[in-house]
Amino acid sequence: MTKKPLGLNTICTHVGEITDAQFKGAISPIYLSTSYEFDNVDIKRYPRYFNTPNQEFLAKKIAALEHAESALIFGSGMAAISHMFLAFLHTGDHIVVQNTLYGGTSNFIREEFPKLGIEFTFTDGYQVSDFEVAIQSNTKLIHIETPSNPLLTITDMKAVSVLAKSKGILVTMDNTFGSPVNQNPIDYGIDIVMHSATKYLGGHSDILAGAIASSQEHIDRIWNVSKNLGGSLSDMTVWMLERSMKTLGLRVKAQTKNAKRLAKFLNKHKAVSKVYYPGLKQHPEYGLAKSQMHDFGAMLSFELVEGIDAMEFMKALSLIKPSMSLAGVESTMILPSVTSHALLTREQREAVGISDQLIRFSVGIESVEDLKNDIKQAIAKIRKKSVAKI
Ligand SMILES: *Cc1c(COP(=O)(O)O)cnc(C)c1O
Repeated sequence: MTKKPLGLNTICTHVGEITDAQFKGAISPIYLSTSYEFDNVDIKRYPRYFNTPNQEFLAKKIAALEHAESALIFGSGMAAISHMFLAFLHTGDHIVVQNTLYGGTSNFIREEFPKLGIEFTFTDGYQVSDFEVAIQSNTKLIHIETPSNPLLTITDMKAVSVLAKSKGILVTMDNTFGSPVNQNPIDYGIDIVMHSATKYLGGHSDILAGAIASSQEHIDRIWNVSKNLGGSLSDMTVWMLERSMKTLGLRVKAQTKNAKRLAKFLNKHKAVSKVYYPGLKQHPEYGLAKSQMHDFGAMLSFELVEGIDAMEFMKALSLIKPSMSLAGVESTMILPSVTSHALLTREQREAVGISDQLIRFSVGIESVEDLKNDIKQAIAKIRKKSVAKI
């Protein structure tokens, strides 16, 4: 008989716990040693080797959540991404990525790859055909992000994996936005999954961390590079991340439920002209999102009607925080036009669908009525001040 896999919240709570054999405490002890006895161990334990007890055990939880054989924990999401790319790409190789890529990843590619002689193609779209035309004879890797930031476009994980496999290309995916609660890319043929654990895995806006989950073979290859680059996470923070992840399932499910209700609320609101959320039937890839996600996630974007100044709206909020950070238990909003896409001209922004009226909403765990009321009072406040009849 095959063993039934553990449920989400059981994995979050228990997988990768360290037993406190000495004192029988309820939680994992924290091991801060940077030095371990060497004469009776096969591999020297050392924090930069990703093999201290806290690192090794938390990696088991992350691997279990992503349906992977193995995992590694990093000092940031960018450490995870850069080490992953550098483990598989060499001079003369080529990578295909999306225009909607996280800004830091895009900068890493544009600034560092030319120095290393690694070629790259940014595809305009997110359809399989967009990737197909970008593939060259030296393409080694396709890296995707779904749902994308900030417009929540959905990429077909399975179709991209099938295309890549047929050409011997590896597919890596940034699963930060979906989190393992809402989707498991490895089940759809994605080879390597990475996270900015700064976001949902940490979930309280107080930890900078990253993670990679994959087969043991790929993880070994990444480990070989990572031990040289030195991007591991301090054990104090590893321990904090373990504590945070016990509630990952509970948090993200509550946030997702709120996001669904707020998407519907905003969709009907007269001051809102458009809502981007994969869980709304009007979303062009609603069917695809439904087929490859467990649920639709807790990120959404919306556009205010002309006449309501988006910046004024943000200032009028009293509960929802204007903040660059996302995925914490607290709700936050940002204006992509003055943050992530500020360096583009207005025309360039419009061309990629980022209007000055667009607001990205990272939905938290607050009572949903309070969030709705905050949005309502902010709009009412602006209307009162505004001469425009909205
Ligand atoms: C924040 C983020 C990153 C980078 O992670 P850091 O922990 O800030 O280094 C990568 N990808 C996505 C989608 C992110 O949101």
